[in-house]
Amino acid sequence: MQPNTPAAFVHTRTTHPTAKAAREAVFANPGFGKYYSDHMVAIDWDAEHDWHGARVTPYAPLTLDPASLVLHYAQAVFEGLKAYRHADGSIWTFRPKVNAQRFSHSAERLGLPELPHDLFIQSLKELVQLDCDWVPSAVESSLYLRPFMIANENSLSVRGADQVAYYVIGSPAGPYFSSGVTPVPIWVSTQRTRAARGGTGYAKCAGNYAGSLAPLKEARKNGCPQVLFLDSEHGQYLEELGGMNIFVVQKDGSLITPALSDSILPGVTRASVIELARSEGRTVHERPISLTEVRDGLASKQITELFACGTAALIFPISALKSEEFSYGNDSAVAGPVTLALRQQLLDIQYGRTADTRNWMLRLA
Ligand SMILES: *Cc1c(COP(=O)(O)O)cnc(C)c1O
Repeated sequence: MQPNTPAAFVHTRTTHPTAKAAREAVFANPGFGKYYSDHMVAIDWDAEHDWHGARVTPYAPLTLDPASLVLHYAQAVFEGLKAYRHADGSIWTFRPKVNAQRFSHSAERLGLPELPHDLFIQSLKELVQLDCDWVPSAVESSLYLRPFMIANENSLSVRGADQVAYYVIGSPAGPYFSSGVTPVPIWVSTQRTRAARGGTGYAKCAGNYAGSLAPLKEARKNGCPQVLFLDSEHGQYLEELGGMNIFVVQKDGSLITPALSDSILPGVTRASVIELARSEGRTVHERPISLTEVRDGLASKQITELFACGTAALIFPISALKSEEFSYGNDSAVAGPVTLALRQQLLDIQYGRTADTRNWMLRLA
């Protein structure tokens, strides 16, 4: 299979498609990552044959040898994007070429082969076209798409795998905030970081998430649904949440977000927020921002809003930053106007309620 030539995906349809009533019961309360559509995409790679065997099959468990490299050395990368149903019934996704590029960068960092970008995008179309009934139409709902690549070669020897598989699965997702966009407190991990200079922080890899889970447990124990990590060198500068980037809004309407580095994941939502904010005349500073600056800014009201952003939650207002030693901000904060306006602008583009002047949307079905 040559890059840039459309692959012929072999389709095997499930003999047990989910009944409409059962699907609608799922849509009534989808949660996140709880239910999956009827099919999945799979493509194989090996060092000799390159990418081959592209197919759409019934959703089913994988069979992995216990010695598969991924199970031991975490050679795995993934992506996350959504399929949105527009009012006319058509189905679209948001900036998938950026995800395709990021997937390549992540794969390269993990010693995995790069999937041609056209094949990445085609794989999304193949799944969504077959499972189009799985894309909900309720407000702010979507089919969350999870492409991922794993080293499935049987070997315990430590090296990049010569045999790999790529998959895409889809999971219906409801609105992240079911009862209004309410700010939440975030736990600051003061002892444990998620990424370091020269490490894998900029790659969307399974291992980064594994390292964030113990701090996340600590956050949950302390009433915070998410955790914010600081830089590994000084333990002072904001980096990002376990799976979301962070922004600060100042009273003059300007924004600050940590500059990208090899320890920060380049979020598609982050890039889009920056572009939208700049095009409406806001200044966006991409620079280091310390916890002290946030503490003082919140106290003096120089900082008026904090939010996190990522595909799953889109824009997530933050009420306070907490740890064992401190609590900055205000638990009873309401979502700020800049946060809400940016969130609305993104939603309007994603759901086709406003003109897509930047060509961010791609039709899947
Ligand atoms: C996926 C991810 C984000 C958000 O990226 P989006 O492309 O906006 O969804 C931010 N941080 C980390 C660590 C991530 O894995």
